[in-house]
Amino acid sequence: MRATPHKAFAATLGAVAAAPAAAAPARDTTSQTAPAHAGTAPTGTAHRAAACTPAQVVANGGFESGTSPWSQSQTGLITNRTGQSAHSGGWFAWLNGVGTTHTDTLSQSVSVPAGCSTATLSFWLHVDTAERTTSVKYDTLTAKIGSTTLATYSNLDKNTGYVQKSFDVSAFAGQTVTVSFTGSEDSSLQTGFVVDDVALDTSGGTVPPTDSTRTPAAPAYTVNLSSDTNGFVWTGHETASFTNASAAPLSEVYLRLWDNYHGTCQAMPITVGNVTGGTAGALSVACTALKIDLPAPLAQGQSATIGFDLTITVPSGADRFGHDGAFSNIGNALPVLAVRDGAGWHLDPYTNNGESFYSLASDFNVTLDHPSGLLVPATGTSVDTPGTSGRTVTTATASKVRDFAWGSGPFSKISGTSAAGTPINVYSVSLISVSGISASDAQSMLSTAKTAVDAHAARFGAYPYGELDAVIDNNYWFGGMEYPGFVLDLVSTTALTHEIGHQWFYGIVGDDEYASPWLDEAFTDYATDLALGKTGTNCWNSVSWASSAEKITNSMAYWDAHSSRYSTVVYGYGKCALHDLRRQLGDGVMAKLLKDYATSHWYGVSTTAEFKAAAQAVSPTDLTSFWTGHRIEG
Ligand SMILES: [Zn+2]
Repeated sequence: MRATPHKAFAATLGAVAAAPAAAAPARDTTSQTAPAHAGTAPTGTAHRAAACTPAQVVANGGFESGTSPWSQSQTGLITNRTGQSAHSGGWFAWLNGVGTTHTDTLSQSVSVPAGCSTATLSFWLHVDTAERTTSVKYDTLTAKIGSTTLATYSNLDKNTGYVQKSFDVSAFAGQTVTVSFTGSEDSSLQTGFVVDDVALDTSGGTVPPTDSTRTPAAPAYTVNLSSDTNGFVWTGHETASFTNASAAPLSEVYLRLWDNYHGTCQAMPITVGNVTGGTAGALSVACTALKIDLPAPLAQGQSATIGFDLTITVPSGADRFGHDGAFSNIGNALPVLAVRDGAGWHLDPYTNNGESFYSLASDFNVTLDHPSGLLVPATGTSVDTPGTSGRTVTTATASKVRDFAWGSGPFSKISGTSAAGTPINVYSVSLISVSGISASDAQSMLSTAKTAVDAHAARFGAYPYGELDAVIDNNYWFGGMEYPGFVLDLVSTTALTHEIGHQWFYGIVGDDEYASPWLDEAFTDYATDLALGKTGTNCWNSVSWASSAEKITNSMAYWDAHSSRYSTVVYGYGKCALHDLRRQLGDGVMAKLLKDYATSHWYGVSTTAEFKAAAQAVSPTDLTSFWTGHRIEG
């Protein structure tokens, strides 16, 4: 995806990402599973299990050894002065207690080890207040890990001594996160929050050994759908065949019903029924994940097929799933299989700020029966045959793609072929539409697409997906959106070159888009710069971090909480970091690195650790300080 180009595009790195026109509806967090953590183990390292080494990872949690590594918003929060006393030893952290409008913060970064069944954050808290209310929280202390609030205390929690508080933070295993305390006082009557003996203990049994191999592997989908007269409702049947590639048995699979984000659990745009080949379980993750229990666990190498009836109801809206008047985009609507690896099932929530779509390369055979007046651009290579009276059946086949998307509507279509031989179709919303695309704009986009697909192919490997369709509409709230062989775009050279770049980074070279969005967005924006002849000279000079927690490699969980920084950091700083890496390695070495990296992950899944290792392997110098300085972790 790309932010609105005339904003993200302005080459000034400080430019703020375009906010979605529609605010993201609140999501049902109670039904979400704990976020799965990106495994960095490559495929083929079966039977690798993380072992639990019990540890306490907060440093100087008793404040007895100076202030390091704590960050204090002002000196003296860590203190031994009179007025309060320590829970143990002589020192403690005393936040607030001023009696005027005032905020104090205390934090440190901790690395929570992976592989342990329990991780507990604890601290001792004494609350001392001059407030007399028994009902109003005038002064508060918020304890957080990462962007997650663990608890908020107030003057109402006053106590005479210390009380221990503890929280299950096992969901953060394997992550480096910031533990923070933020105290906030109003204008009168002091409340002091006194904290001591902060600890984060990991313990318990080792997580049962699992196999890091990604599974279910080699999915093959067969889909038959028929639309209503508008192309707004599609009904039919889908089957999914797959093989368990893992040495660990596969007892269940999960279908991702991503577009239920665009509805509610009471009115789901994507409904699945009459499941065969397994037993449908509960919907979870705000009705975007459907568990299907298999009749018997699949051993390694065994295959199975599930089937189900499917109804897709396209809502109104110029969006990746929505119809702009008569023109529908139907992205992320076909249920696809979630991925399990050594970290377990990846069942992350939908994000409207970017993508959560993590899937393995798959084959699709899709027939779309629709009124003949509707054109149906789609992933893959399409063939139209006559249907029943007044209808056409479009059969689209695609191999080794991670998703299948299509559109429908009375588009204006023009076609051409790139110099290297890729057929390209540009579908424009009609001239009578409010945002009608002019014939010259459509020709310009066709020309851009031809140039872009060849430019990226020359750098990263030949475009393997046959034809490429682009749907052009100036009403999108984003610059563009990528699907295999099918992109949505405003009239924008940069955005279209970017979305076509995603055919390689996300499409051919897959990644966990929720855990590591920079692996697709920064690499695609870097490829876009190269295709457009931009060298990113001095671009790193404009970098200005918002906080110590802000990193290019942060996950969508972080960016959903800091959405105004997503485009600036992941796209802007991300591509500048790659330009800097190119300057450090030399143009030729960097070009070969990326070509070889694409080749070695062709139709696979890449990770930050694998990219760093590949770069280190061709670098004559140690890149550790480069990664640290550019905040590329993992
Ligand atoms: Zn993008």
